[in-house]
Amino acid sequence: MKISRELIAELPKSDLHVHLGGSIRLETLIDLAKKDGVELPSYTVQGLKETVFKESYNSLEDYLKCFVYPGAVMQKKENLTRIAYELAVDNQNEGVRYLEARFAPQRYAGGEMTLPEVLEAVNNGLSRAKQEFNIREVIVSGEEPPFDYGIIACAMRFFTKGSSQYFREICSAHANSSEDRIFGLASYELAGAIVKARRKSGIPVVAIDIAGREKGYPPIHHRDAYMLAHRNFISKTVHAGEAYGPESIFQAITELGADRIGHGTSLFNTKSISDPSIPDRQRYIDDLVRFIADRRVTIEVCLSSNMQTAPELHHLEDHPFKKMMDNRLSCTICTDNRTVSNTTVTDELFKAVSVFDLSAEQLKNLVAYGFKRSFFPHSYREKRTYVKRCLDYFERVMAD
Ligand SMILES: [Zn+2]
Repeated sequence: MKISRELIAELPKSDLHVHLGGSIRLETLIDLAKKDGVELPSYTVQGLKETVFKESYNSLEDYLKCFVYPGAVMQKKENLTRIAYELAVDNQNEGVRYLEARFAPQRYAGGEMTLPEVLEAVNNGLSRAKQEFNIREVIVSGEEPPFDYGIIACAMRFFTKGSSQYFREICSAHANSSEDRIFGLASYELAGAIVKARRKSGIPVVAIDIAGREKGYPPIHHRDAYMLAHRNFISKTVHAGEAYGPESIFQAITELGADRIGHGTSLFNTKSISDPSIPDRQRYIDDLVRFIADRRVTIEVCLSSNMQTAPELHHLEDHPFKKMMDNRLSCTICTDNRTVSNTTVTDELFKAVSVFDLSAEQLKNLVAYGFKRSFFPHSYREKRTYVKRCLDYFERVMAD
């Protein structure tokens, strides 16, 4: 059976790894920049695509620039609400029924907003989009599954005083502590805010994550934060194995108890192991892969994004996704950054299907993992019902 892009667009899908800032609509970025007096290198979509949001990036600095401009317009409540709302709508328009949007709240707090207000502002946008979508006749009648979402709050592996007003205040208050200690304190504080938002305000913050510079900034600094989340039944995902070797994935699992791994691109790469105390590298990888497979630790695979940030991957065919599938790992296809990588969930799944020649059965498994391994914010019973509705609908679309 030939699986077309059009068919994939019709299918119910999820995105479990997508950054709010990296997925901002360019029209919105321009609009908000003009309103708030933020300087951009261009004020047209085409101009921004030529100067910032390019097809490919020559360096990491080039790539990271894409996050600076959205960050500058995300310092106000109404802006965050709008960006979150539009992210949900863009997803709904291409058949995404379950979304886990992630962002680093501390990058937007300290100025106009407190940490809880940042979470609330984003939630307001997502919640509005959900309500508007779910009153549609096809949803109310039960013909199609409804839209739902969770929020993932990212702590930063690295930041400086200049990263945000909030980070400036943390750095100043702990001027005599080591950098590593301050990173850990900041993520611990974030974990506390997540727990409060979930428990007291009912905001569906479903998980903690760590993002940012991977090499040289190990997960161990964030252990207390992850344990606080764990003790409060908040789920755990970790950006790992994107810019550092398999040890990073190992640490995410053994030190932070990760339920899911963001990227995991270096998982099979024996050459990128740098710890000299590991004598048998192949054995180390084999054990790690077995553990991940057996525990169903899910890998959030972001194909286009990985091609932009991993210079060693010259062709998509070289992406370890094939090996992940061959080893029967639990994988889900995600976008990472819709605008920065100029992509959609439909595009990413279509890429996976066409480049790795996936069967309809394999596609269904990938989509099913997205729903099943989500950090769905309601009861287990409700999750089971919801997943079943999504997969039944998947079957119906395929049959049509
Ligand atoms: Zn990411």
